[in-house]
Amino acid sequence: MNGIDLRAELKIALDAVRKAAAACTRVQDTLISAETLEKKDKSPVTIGDFAAQALVGRELMRSSAVRAMIGEESADELRKNDDLRSRVVALVSHVNPEMGEAEALEAIDFGGADPATTGGTHWTLDPIDGTKGFLRREQYAIALALIVEGEVTLAVLGCPRLPGRDGSVGGLFYAIRGEGAYSLPLSGDAEPTRIHVDDVGTPAAARFCESVEAGHSDQSWSEALARTLGITAEPVRMDSQAKYAALARGDASIYLRLPTRKGYEERIWDHAAGALVVEEAGGRVTDIDGKPLDFSRGKTLAANRGVIASNGAFHDEIVKAVLANEPA
Ligand code: AMP
Ligand code: MG
Repeated sequence: MNGIDLRAELKIALDAVRKAAAACTRVQDTLISAETLEKKDKSPVTIGDFAAQALVGRELMRSSAVRAMIGEESADELRKNDDLRSRVVALVSHVNPEMGEAEALEAIDFGGADPATTGGTHWTLDPIDGTKGFLRREQYAIALALIVEGEVTLAVLGCPRLPGRDGSVGGLFYAIRGEGAYSLPLSGDAEPTRIHVDDVGTPAAARFCESVEAGHSDQSWSEALARTLGITAEPVRMDSQAKYAALARGDASIYLRLPTRKGYEERIWDHAAGALVVEEAGGRVTDIDGKPLDFSRGKTLAANRGVIASNGAFHDEIVKAVLANEPA
């Protein structure tokens, strides 16, 4: 597509996300303590965020044919804060010894592309999606996607805390548009496994997932529509795009993200990677009005409201029930 070698880009993206996951895992293992949790100290997530964006930015800068990335983080704060900067650089160098301070800052800056100048072709990265889950040592994700002319074309989701079916912990999920979705262990060189959404055929038999944070998705709205649809299973509450991964491999049949306030625009890096993985696993992803997600509008999904993702078997029915239960 567009002269971009997607197989080559996939290899680069997988390697980049693996490095970021190594940094995040190290932060979780060494910096999050009962004390940080008690003090609601968010510094571990800040350090992890910057380090993950630096590690991914570096791989893409060096190897990708696509010369732009829209990342969640900007290096401005790091340039001002000496203590934070030295902790980030120490972590980055631990994972990639070729990188010192200058390389780390440059790589974070690589994520500062202005969407007005990329022609709709850029990477987008959420270095730590689900920061609350990260701090609780629950679910979080490193979400990297390649958008080509406004369309998500390649996706890699790293989910370091997601349990596998074989008792292992941590997985990578990836997709190239038109080529299916796959999972891989986070480390080692196992062969990829093709993944599919489940084949649950009626809403009454479905399980849905939604945010842990009630501020990110309206949980009384989802409860009401579950009643309308006859869903009896308890919702699976999970932070981050691990929800898309869970749907893509058939752990749940629906993912709901119902706006908690009018006017909130979803960020592209919160959905690009997950949405493509679900579509390539055979599912459907729209907004709550049933419209396709429009990734051509810059940093946000300005043309959409919320998100509904499903296994595709009764998507229109879910949209109808969501709208019928919309709070005034
Ligand atoms: P989740 O872990 O699925 O709850 O989503 C985490 C993401 O929610 C973060 O990366 C934020 O960008 C995003 N977020 C922040 N505020 C809101 C909001 N009011 N509605 C929806 N998403 C939000
Ligand atoms: Mg996020």
